[in-house]
Amino acid sequence: MKKEVIVVGAGLAGSEAAYQLAKRGIKVKLYEMKAKKKTPAHSKDYYSELVCSNSLGSDSLENASGLMKEELRILGSLLIDVADRNRVPAGQALAVDRDGFSKEVTNILKNTKNIEIIEEEFTEIPNDKIVIIASGPLTSDKLFEKISEITGEESLYFYDAAAPIVTFESIDMNKAYFQSRYGKGDGEYINCPMNKEEYYNFYNELIKAERAELENFEKEKLFDACMPIEKIAMSGEKTMTFGPLKPKGLINPRTEKMDYAVVQLRQMIKKENYII
Ligand SMILES: Cc1cc2nc3c(=O)[nH]c(=O)nc-3n(C[C@H](O)[C@H](O)[C@H](O)COP(=O)(O)OP(=O)(O)OC[C@H]3O[C@@H](n4cnc5c(N)ncnc54)[C@H](O)[C@@H]3O)c2cc1C
Repeated sequence: MKKEVIVVGAGLAGSEAAYQLAKRGIKVKLYEMKAKKKTPAHSKDYYSELVCSNSLGSDSLENASGLMKEELRILGSLLIDVADRNRVPAGQALAVDRDGFSKEVTNILKNTKNIEIIEEEFTEIPNDKIVIIASGPLTSDKLFEKISEITGEESLYFYDAAAPIVTFESIDMNKAYFQSRYGKGDGEYINCPMNKEEYYNFYNELIKAERAELENFEKEKLFDACMPIEKIAMSGEKTMTFGPLKPKGLINPRTEKMDYAVVQLRQMIKKENYII
């Protein structure tokens, strides 16, 4: 095998690929353009930036996602190792402090022997070198043209969900409570309960609310497992109480009863960094 590999993109895939190659003594040229040019979704200069949810999914050994993480841990994955160190409470899921996570990955990549980081947009795919293209769903246009010449595909696409961020100080903890569903995990989800009247007020406001405009790279093509909340609401007035606002498995400690609906929030930063 040739002892040099080009990795394009220091996102999640590219960071892990570069690190694993370097650890095995293979020289890596890692191209990342974000210092000079950012995709429409990336905003930070750090690598392995999580652009949306801070959850890497279940960490339970009882399902495929958790099992795969455990295998990655055993195999010495950089990202899982850094994620474990930047973990924030999220029941059975592995969720991370996104800034802490990205900063640590960046720091490790910059200090790993055999990795040379080139802060440029990669635009030409050479025939005589091994290249791993890990430029993600928002690959730059120039590189996409080259990928398209090789693959014949006209576009790259992915399903995207935008998760709102709620500041801790805006939550009334005299009403909300910490608890994990069915008592599983660390009990650190923040649950904002609604009674029937509050739920219907929310429902009525939601279905007539102003909608975000689509970016020019977005199309309204929906994925069943990741429906926008207003679409779920429009399918029936109680549907949300069986989906994202389901109260099942939670007992409100103030009333000792199940609420009519619950907005369950996952923490995004470590507790010691809370601004109260
Ligand atoms: C708006 C948005 C929301 C998302 N929400 C979720 C979610 O909630 N859950 C989820 O699992 N996934 C989500 N995704 C998908 C998410 O992008 C992937 O899960 C993950 O980031 C993919 O990792 P990656 O390494 O393939 O790409 P990325 O993490 O996107 O990394 C690609 C890197 O390549 C760089 N790059 C691109 N072109 C070039 C070039 N020509 N030269 C040099 N560098 C280049 C970029 O700057 C970037 O740093 C979302 C994606 C977007 C865009």
